[in-house]
Amino acid sequence: MSTIRPLPDLLVNQIAAGEVVERPASALKELLENSVDAGAHAIAVELASGGAKLLKVTDDGCGIDRDELTLALARHATSKIATLEDLERVASLGFRGEALASIAAVSHLSLTSRTADARHAWRVEAHGGTLAPVQPAAAPTGTNVEVRDLYFNTPARRKFLRTEATELAHCDEVLRRAALARPDLAFTLQHNGRTLLRVRPEGALDRVRAVLGGELAAVLLHLDETSAGVRVSGFVAPPTASRAARDYQYFFVNGRHVRDRLLAHAVRQAFQDVLHHDRHPAYVLFLDIDPARVDVNVHPTKSEVRFRDPQAVHQLVFHALTRLLAGTRAGGVASAATVSGSDSRGPASAFAWSGPHQQPIGLPVREATAFYETLFASRASNAAPFPQERSEQAPPLGFALAQLAGVYVLAQNEQGLVIVDMHAAHERIMYEKLKNALEGSRVPTQQLLIPATLQVSALEAATVEESGETLALLGFEMASLSPTTIIVRAVPAPLQNADPASLARDVLGELAEFGASRVLTERRDEMLATMACHAAVRANRSLTTAEMNALLREMEATERSGQCNHGRPTWTQVSLAELDRMFLRGQ
Ligand code: ADP
Ligand code: MG
Repeated sequence: MSTIRPLPDLLVNQIAAGEVVERPASALKELLENSVDAGAHAIAVELASGGAKLLKVTDDGCGIDRDELTLALARHATSKIATLEDLERVASLGFRGEALASIAAVSHLSLTSRTADARHAWRVEAHGGTLAPVQPAAAPTGTNVEVRDLYFNTPARRKFLRTEATELAHCDEVLRRAALARPDLAFTLQHNGRTLLRVRPEGALDRVRAVLGGELAAVLLHLDETSAGVRVSGFVAPPTASRAARDYQYFFVNGRHVRDRLLAHAVRQAFQDVLHHDRHPAYVLFLDIDPARVDVNVHPTKSEVRFRDPQAVHQLVFHALTRLLAGTRAGGVASAATVSGSDSRGPASAFAWSGPHQQPIGLPVREATAFYETLFASRASNAAPFPQERSEQAPPLGFALAQLAGVYVLAQNEQGLVIVDMHAAHERIMYEKLKNALEGSRVPTQQLLIPATLQVSALEAATVEESGETLALLGFEMASLSPTTIIVRAVPAPLQNADPASLARDVLGELAEFGASRVLTERRDEMLATMACHAAVRANRSLTTAEMNALLREMEATERSGQCNHGRPTWTQVSLAELDRMFLRGQ
């Protein structure tokens, strides 16, 4: 019989470190958050060997009392919350009380701190989680954390460290995010003795200029809108300054950088009509919302949030951006560089807002034929769009009659009228195909006749290098050509007609942010849904009757085809009885 016993504290912390401290950059993120929470005005970061050898963060914040120094390194010890109520409206960046304990468990850590009223500083050291006695030290008010030889005692983890350049790229990104989030603070970043970034407290636009470059900052549009207590503000590049890579997209919720599908979707949708599908908006946006209306305790790394009212947040962001972009269409608004801080709603915004939508940019021919192929390619060996076996019964979803408004397929079945949202239905079919393939073993691959080359961020290029196996499981074959260029040679077979560049980009973005293991586990369904969306037929594509029938048959064959991946229904039935009632027949 096995014996159940509690895990030793050190092992518990090492397990937690696996989640919180995935790589040097994640440790850096936690240390920066602590400095910001401590009310620091200036934060200095020094790295050696991409942060793996040394990661040092010095701040001038409130410091830690001598008596609490060892407690700071204990698991589940925090000064930031005390009750569930606190947790539900937490305003600090940290609150879980596990970062320092986790980092200390897998490194040589030294924590030196001095409060304003202390006569000198105190230091505590931890080696693989074992604490040495607290010693007096010389240091100014504030805190200094030095982390050396990350994962020295956990070789399995150490194996996952990538090249110095890759780890540095991740650290650099973490610092950029922190610097963009708080323009009122000073930051410096040094690597192997070289200064990579130095910014003083400044205005928000100046900070964007310092971090993302002057060229972009010169044309940014300024946004600031509040609705129902939620404020969205920041900077957006006009469509003319869109980017080839999805590298300059920053969203902060209550000062915390997040990668959120809902927010990204709202932005993408606002840009949809004004941007070619292979161009990407650049933005630095801030959402300020009552902390009680957003849950930040979704994952140990705190980079995901859940809104209590996602719909309202989506609408706010979408409409604010739509109005702003409407101004650019009318040739109206000045850039943020000249009107920073003023009301930037364009003069024509009210008109454009209530006016009809612009037509989306035309689809490439390839895409227009794509839909037909995705359905018929697999059916050739399978079944024809019309039921072959001679049965008395008509198929459940009936036969297509017509297409309505470029969006809906109308069909007739035994009960009456069937209305299908063709994009949603197609997306669900693609999603189930991918899911079945991945559950089987791996998604089959289709070599591209013409490989796609694309510009990506340094992080995404590094991800291609380190995630080859995961990409292969998902059906991709990619390689990096330069630090910011990659080539896509093969894509998942079910998605062979999707745009390979934007498909690859979405997958890389997800991998870079969440890591291969999470993408294949807890985030898998979301990832597959994103991929499926790329391949699904777009609105305004007119379908032939044969194509519509093929869609209906495929829906019948697909599990859960009644719902699209976003939980919206894919089809609905209007019975003859209901139609009769509408027309007061037989009453
Ligand atoms: P959390 O940030 O979730 O509270 P951490 O393990 O990151 O947990 O930190 C534990 C505690 O140590 C914090 O609650 C804070 O009181 C203290 N602390 C950590 N870093 C600093 C710092 N740079 N300045 C002041 N206090 C700090
Ligand atoms: Mg913390």
